[in-house]
Amino acid sequence: VVRTRIAPSPTGYLHLGTARTALYSWAYARHHGGQFVLRIEDTDVARSTQESVEQILQSMHWLGLDYDEGPIYQMQRLDRYQQVIDQMLANGTAYRCYATPEELDAMREAQKARGEKTGYDGRWRPAPGKVLPPIPEGVKPVVRFANPLDGDVTWDDLVKGPITINNREIDDLIIQRPDGVPTYNFAVVVDDWDMQITHVFRGDEHINNTPWQINIYRALGAALPQFGHLPVILGDDGTKLSKRRGAVAVSNYEEMGYLPEAMLNYLARLGWSHGDEELFTIEQMVSWFDGSHLNKSPAQWDAAKLAWVNAHYVKHADDQRLSALVAKHLRAKGHAVADDAALAPHCALFKDRCATTMELADWLSMYVTDVTPPADELAAKLTDAVKPAVAALAERLKGVAWEAPAISQAIKDTLGEFGLKMPQLAIPVRLLVCGRSQTPSVDAALVLFERDVVVQRLQKNI
Ligand code: GLU
Repeated sequence: VVRTRIAPSPTGYLHLGTARTALYSWAYARHHGGQFVLRIEDTDVARSTQESVEQILQSMHWLGLDYDEGPIYQMQRLDRYQQVIDQMLANGTAYRCYATPEELDAMREAQKARGEKTGYDGRWRPAPGKVLPPIPEGVKPVVRFANPLDGDVTWDDLVKGPITINNREIDDLIIQRPDGVPTYNFAVVVDDWDMQITHVFRGDEHINNTPWQINIYRALGAALPQFGHLPVILGDDGTKLSKRRGAVAVSNYEEMGYLPEAMLNYLARLGWSHGDEELFTIEQMVSWFDGSHLNKSPAQWDAAKLAWVNAHYVKHADDQRLSALVAKHLRAKGHAVADDAALAPHCALFKDRCATTMELADWLSMYVTDVTPPADELAAKLTDAVKPAVAALAERLKGVAWEAPAISQAIKDTLGEFGLKMPQLAIPVRLLVCGRSQTPSVDAALVLFERDVVVQRLQKNI
């Protein structure tokens, strides 16, 4: 049975890259009727926070990436790691190293001076007939993995294809720190082994770690998972997507008014394809996502394309759902919204022209708070010739049925009375009531206000 996992370190928000890896891992498990596990890799105690764990879980929930097991915390598994370390120390696949950081610095300096590649020189590695240095007083040892000294490590990467590294290129890795906490490369192997993970998808910054991990699997007599290393996501300037260049947290996109299904659709396509399909549901993705057609080269973040994808989902979203999201944005801007659901018809009218629910909220703010028409434009359009027509329209609107056809008729009657063309009246009316000169048809926009509000706004500047 296929078992995949996502293993974020809780040192910040759920990053877009991690979200994409989570999506691929999740979809791969779902495609194969398998299971998906969430593990929190919190062994970097100084940088891990509970707040970050909550952010990550919240973003996973928002995206709808549900997990069958977890969250599992590495810091709650220290006994298990100790047990494995003890076994490895006993069978000689690991050993204690008492070299101090100063000593190791000096070692690396000497290696550099000789023009050699830097790396641990194995001074504490036991070998037949070898005399180890005397154990120094007061130094807490680390535990190192006795990496095989030669031979190749080879794996067939699900994304990158076959990869081979010679063991002479890698040194004896620290697997346990002096304080007893295991390092990433060791804990990840014990966990993926214990959790029976069959397929490991992760970012390709981990490719250099994989040979060590494969050697540890072998030392433990554990079956290897398959590895798939996903290329990085580049920002639109061609460098790695980073916080300095824009939003990289999934939660930022929620705040900016993106819909989770749009994020999933966009992230799915960012590094994977199914023919020419650009817009598809998560169910379709699951049915197609069999591990093939994963891109080998980096993907480029394209904010305009994400906005296009999101606009599609906003346009097709249920109006009640949109009204709740828009009400949230409006409240965040300090506007009072009495009844979220009452905004549903407004969402229906404006959603076609919005890339995000935030844009939709900007449109709808005219309905929940007063507007300030741009003065120059108003002065140009609300001429003395037009003012009496606006005043007459306000009077007419007091008496008509509050429905779009009746409002439309009142406008036409006013045009006839004053000999004006539609834009001559409609534009100043929009400016006065909506605060902007372009809206959907003026009767459709007006009918969504309370009649009194429209009448007041028309009369206010006359
Ligand atoms: N905690 C690691 C990371 O966030 C996980 C890497 C892996 O999936 O093995 O990069």
